[in-house]
Amino acid sequence: MYDVIVIGSGAAGYTATIYSCRAGRRTLLVAGSVSGGQLMLTSDVENFPGFPEAVLGPELMERMRKQAQRFGPDILYDDVSQVDFRSKPFEVTVAGKKHQARAVVIATGANAKWLGLPSETRLRGKGVSSCATCDGFFFKEKDVIVVGGGDTAMEEATFLANIVRGVTVVHRREKLRASQILQDRALKNPKINFIWDSVVNEILGDTKVTGARIKNLKTGKESSLKNEGVFVAIGYEPNTEIFKGHVELDRAGYIVTKRETETSIPGVFAAGDVRDFRYRQAVTAAADGCKASMDADRFISEHQKS
Ligand code: NAP
Repeated sequence: MYDVIVIGSGAAGYTATIYSCRAGRRTLLVAGSVSGGQLMLTSDVENFPGFPEAVLGPELMERMRKQAQRFGPDILYDDVSQVDFRSKPFEVTVAGKKHQARAVVIATGANAKWLGLPSETRLRGKGVSSCATCDGFFFKEKDVIVVGGGDTAMEEATFLANIVRGVTVVHRREKLRASQILQDRALKNPKINFIWDSVVNEILGDTKVTGARIKNLKTGKESSLKNEGVFVAIGYEPNTEIFKGHVELDRAGYIVTKRETETSIPGVFAAGDVRDFRYRQAVTAAADGCKASMDADRFISEHQKS
């Protein structure tokens, strides 16, 4: 039996594993069949402290993996198919085999939704991004597009307007979904233009983004827009499918936590983007992994006493 099972291998999962092992807890990391989380899809990371010359996302994750491995966890590169948090110890099934632990840290993250265009996949990290905070700086004094009409899109557009030359928001309807205050802020910003009733059909460029083809859904007319970045801000999907009915989720599917990392089940903790839709940064996810691990350690100690 394990003390702690960590599910997920992004910044939160690796950090939770490092802290758990270093606290002397027997730890299983279920890293998933596709390990490393969202940073595996990123190129230069300039805002993770300790890397003055920037670091590539996959390299950062490989370093985190090696660092976690150094402290001796068992690691499974497979997906969790089932959990049972009613049983004590908790049960986590991976590749048909049940594993037991006294505490669990869920760090399965969230995925940005994408438009699903082949050109978008090809140019991801080469001008196509889903995170203005992460990548906005690379577009200093350049023109960019933001796709979407919700809160995230308005926040991204407003954030980018402070850095870039101009922002064009492309939204598929003539009405924004975002809250009034965020709409007003974006609509009033002289550096933000809006193209309504339109979708991005194709992102242009061979090795980096040079523009986008836009289609007006009402008239069917297509046009090209020159720009150097496309920020897709059409929402996120937390990876919580297997936890439905096992821990409390909010309407959007994020794990509900109180006192930082505690879920609705005592002894089950959540860390990173799977619970945090506000910050979504590698550094905040790593910090969250640390907190969840310390909370799990404390839970185990307190449980042993009683
Ligand atoms: P969202 O509210 O679901 O909005 C997604 C936007 O993208 C919508 O405008 C939608 O268009 C558009 N969209 C979806 N799929 C598309 C596609 N395939 N092609 C083109 N456009 C597409 O997502 P979100 O903005 O990420 O917000 C998620 C949740 O987090 C919300 O509850 C939001 O309030 C919250 N949030 C809050 C804040 C804040 O309060 N500061 C900041 C960020 C997020 P339609 O409008 O036509 O559906």
